[in-house]
Amino acid sequence: MKTYDAIVIGGGPAGTVFAYTAASHGKCVLMLEKNAVPSTKVCGGVLSPRCLRALDRAGLGEQVRRIPHQYLTFLDVELDSGDRLQIPFPKETTRVVDRCELDALLWRAAVTAGAEGWEQTIARSIGRSSDEHWTVLAQNSQETPLHGKLLIGADGRNSFVARQLALRAKGARRSFCLQYRLTRHDFDREGVHFFIFQNGYCGLSVDGTGMAHLDIISLKGREDEVTLNARLMEQKSRFVDRLRAAEYLPGKPVTRSPIGQGRRAAPSFSNVFLLGDAQGWVEPFTGEGISLAVESGHELAQQWATSQPIATKFPNPSMTNRCMGFVINKPHCTQALARLLKIAPRVGQWMSHEVLK
Ligand SMILES: Cc1cc2nc3c(=O)[nH]c(=O)nc-3n(C[C@H](O)[C@H](O)[C@H](O)COP(=O)(O)OP(=O)(O)OC[C@H]3O[C@@H](n4cnc5c(N)ncnc54)[C@H](O)[C@@H]3O)c2cc1C
Repeated sequence: MKTYDAIVIGGGPAGTVFAYTAASHGKCVLMLEKNAVPSTKVCGGVLSPRCLRALDRAGLGEQVRRIPHQYLTFLDVELDSGDRLQIPFPKETTRVVDRCELDALLWRAAVTAGAEGWEQTIARSIGRSSDEHWTVLAQNSQETPLHGKLLIGADGRNSFVARQLALRAKGARRSFCLQYRLTRHDFDREGVHFFIFQNGYCGLSVDGTGMAHLDIISLKGREDEVTLNARLMEQKSRFVDRLRAAEYLPGKPVTRSPIGQGRRAAPSFSNVFLLGDAQGWVEPFTGEGISLAVESGHELAQQWATSQPIATKFPNPSMTNRCMGFVINKPHCTQALARLLKIAPRVGQWMSHEVLK
C-alpha cells in the first residue's frame, strides 16, 4: 500500500491551501473531499484584506483576485425594532466572491502543484497503524484503505477527525443555518446587510455576478426550515419586506449546515492537526473564517514541509470574533450589542476594522 506523507480530510480552503503548499515543497499529499468540486457551500463569500494577504503569502493571491468580485463599502445592520446602523468600510479593500468558485480554484491549484485530490470521497474511519502512522478508510464507489504519516483534519466545523480522535473540547452548541440565492433583488451590491431578530440573524451579500446570498441562522437547536422561515417572515421590517419582494432560485434552500461551536483542544498525538473551522473557534459571521483557514493551512504546511519546529499556536481569531462567538448564541446579548452599536457607532467601526484590517 502507498504511504502518503499527508492525508488531508476536507477540500475547503484550509485543506487545499495546506495541500498546495506541501505539494509545492515536494510532499506526497492526498486530499479527500466528500462533495463534488465545485459544490455550493454556505458562506457569504466575503474576502477581507487579511485573507488576501494570507493568500498572497501562500502564492495564490493573484489567481484569487481574478475571480469576479464585488467590492464592499459598508455594513448595514437592522434590528427588529426597526433601528438601523451603517458602518463604512475602507475603499476597495473587502470583496465578495462566489464561494464555489473560490474553493474550486484552490482545489485545482493544489492538484496542479502535485497533490492528489479525490472528490466525492468520504473519510469513513480513522485508525493508527503499528508504525504510528494513520490509516483512513476512504469511501466513494468503493472502499479504499489509505496509509499516511501525517493526518490533517480540515473537515470543517463539525470535524469528523476531531470527533473520532476526541480532539475537540466539550461544549459544542448547534444552530441551524439556511442559504438562499436571490436572483432579483434591490439590495445594494456594495453592502453587507445584517438583520438581527429575536433568536436569529440573517446576513446578505451580493457577489460579482449580481447574485445575492442570504444566510439565515437560528440560535435555537431544534429548528427546521419551515419554522425558521415562518419566524423570519413574521417580522415587520424593511429588510424582510425587501426579501418578500425578491425572487429566489426555485426550490428548496441550496444548503443547510449546523454550526458547532467549541473550544480548541491540543492534539494528543504529534502527527495530527486540525486546521481552519475544524479547530472549532470561528464565528462564521465576522467574515474571518476563510482567512483563518488559509492562514492555518499555509503556516502548518510551510513549517512541516521545511522541517521547522511546528508552532503550537496558529493564527488566532480577532477579539471581535471571540466576542461575537459568545454574544451571538445568546439572544439577549445580541440585542444588547445591537443597542450598544446604535448608541456608540464607533464600537461597530472598531469591530469591523479589526476584522477587515
Ligand atoms: C452562514 C455562513 C456565512 C459565512 N460567511 C463567511 C464570509 O463571508 N467570509 C468568511 O471568511 N467566512 C465566512 N464563513 C465561514 C467560512 O465559511 C469558514 O470559516 C470556512 O469555510 C472554513 O474553511 P475550512 O476549510 O476550515 O472548512 P470548510 O470550508 O467547511 O471545508 C471543510 C470540507 O471538508 C469536507 N468534509 C467534511 N467531512 C468530511 C469527511 N468525513 N470526508 C471528506 N470530506 C469531508 C466538507 O465537505 C468541506 O468541503 C461563513 C460561514 C457560514 C456558516
